[in-house]
Parts: sequence; C-alpha cells; structure tokens
Amino acid sequence: MSTTVQEREPHAVSGGETALPIVKYNDVKKSFGDLEVLHGINLEMRPGEKIAIIGPSGSGKTTLGRMLMTLEEPTSGTIEVDGELLWHMERGGKLVRASEAHLHRMRTKIGMVFQHFNLFPHMKVIRNVTEAPRKVLGLSKEEAHERAVEMLRKVGLEDKLDVYPSKLSGGQKQRVAIARALVMRPKVMVFDEVTSALDPELVGEVLEVIKEIALEGEMAMMLITHEMDFAREVADRVIFGADGLIVEEGPPSELFENPESERLQSFLRRMN
Ligand code: ADP
Repeated sequence: MSTTVQEREPHAVSGGETALPIVKYNDVKKSFGDLEVLHGINLEMRPGEKIAIIGPSGSGKTTLGRMLMTLEEPTSGTIEVDGELLWHMERGGKLVRASEAHLHRMRTKIGMVFQHFNLFPHMKVIRNVTEAPRKVLGLSKEEAHERAVEMLRKVGLEDKLDVYPSKLSGGQKQRVAIARALVMRPKVMVFDEVTSALDPELVGEVLEVIKEIALEGEMAMMLITHEMDFAREVADRVIFGADGLIVEEGPPSELFENPESERLQSFLRRMN
C-alpha cells in the first residue's frame, strides 16, 4: 500500500467543485485489550463538510474522534488527513512508522474540543489561547495575540482576556476551549460532546457559537453529539453508529425522517 493519495472518485462539494476527502478512515479497527470497540470503519469527510456522529453510549464515537486527533492509535487500518497518513509515512516506496516530526505536522491540521474543557487553570484566558500558536506554530507574541483576540471575539469573550478560567461559567470555559482550537486554523475540527458537562441553561450559547463557525464554511467539522436538533440543523450528513459499526448514514432530513434500521428507529424514539 502506498501513502500517496490513490486515484479516487472525486466528491462533489458545494459550488459544484470536486475535492479529495480531507479525512478518510480506511477499515479502521480499534481494540482496548481484548475488547474490539470499532470493527472496521470506512468514513470520508469532504473539505468543509459538517458531519454529526450520533449513537448510543459506548458505541465508539469518542474513540473515532480521538483517533483522528492522534490521541488513540488504530489497532489496524489507516486514517488519512489532507491526503497523508496519520501514523505512517512513505520511505523509499515502503510504509514506515511516522516520525514525531510527521505527527507533529499532521496534528496542526486537526483541532479538538472535549466534553471537559481542559483549560490551563493557572493561565489567563488570553494565554490559554496564545500558548499553542506561540509554542507549536512559532508565531510571534504580537501575531499570536492578534489571532487569539480575533478568535475570542468570535466566541463572544473579548471582554474576558485577562480573567482566569476559574472565574468563568462552564459555557464561557467551553467557548474559550473552542477559541483555543480555532486559533490554530485546523482543516478539521472534532467536537466531542462539548455540551454534555454543561448545565442545561448554558448549552445554547455553546451550540450557537458552533453553528456560527459552521456557517463560515471552510473547516470540516465532526460533531459527536446527543443533541439531535443541533445535528439536524448543522450537519450536512449524519452518521449513526452502534456497537462499533456505522449502521446508517445520510442527510439529516432523510436519516431523522425516514430511519431505515430498527436500531436507529429505536435510538431516535429513546432520544425524543
Ligand atoms: P462513545 O463515545 O460512543 O460513548 P467510546 O468511544 O467512549 O464510546 O467507548 C467505546 C468503548 O470503548 C466503551 O466500551 C469504552 O468503555 C471503551 N473504551 C474507551 N476508551 C477506553 C480505554 N482507554 N481503555 C479501555 N476501554 C476504553
């Protein structure tokens, strides 16, 4: 197998152009010890595409996202981002394990926001957002600051630059986490149940910010969510996973209005 992009069917994207996938899972399996939690996932995302991943707890949704973020390595199969493999690279026509430098470069293409915000508690909001552009992208202090302020403005927190995370609500913390991921200008973002840990009254402000980012368009987004209305509104395509497999996928209108499988029908009944 080669690491270079193979000839593929081009995908139509909005505007009638064609583009290679920005993300491609090829027969990805993942086990933890003896337990295989993903049984061979094939999934592609087009540049700028918004996909929602829905399904019961324990079905492997988070693991799918964490593998894209290189936080977990597939047991077998490959994941390509932007036409390059995540864990491997080609050397002299052979596939070898990726160097740290390769992984490092690939990681700059991917952003992730987690259920728990994971902000640096000892750093003010602005520094939480400037840290990675400075350390990872090597931006100057001024450039990183400018970018960070722009992102914090986008998530409605330009008045909180000099505040410590402990002084923020859960919704505000999550918005800082979103700004921190966005500031790296990733090609694809994974949002992993970003509202699950929030008080119900704070969920709306975070979903609203994500919707606005989605409308901007150019970044591909994987939205792992239990919020069905949100999935319906934001996603171009919804993927229903259960027991480590993709059971059904399609545009939200089709998937939610006419679920084909019994699994999805009963899942949606439970969610309503
Ligand atoms: P979901 O996001 O759909 O709830 P997860 O991807 O979190 O599902 O988990 C899928 C399965 O993998 C679960 O059975 C979970 O207990 C197991 N799992 C996830 N991460 C680990 C880990 N680091 N070690 C062992 N088991 C894990």
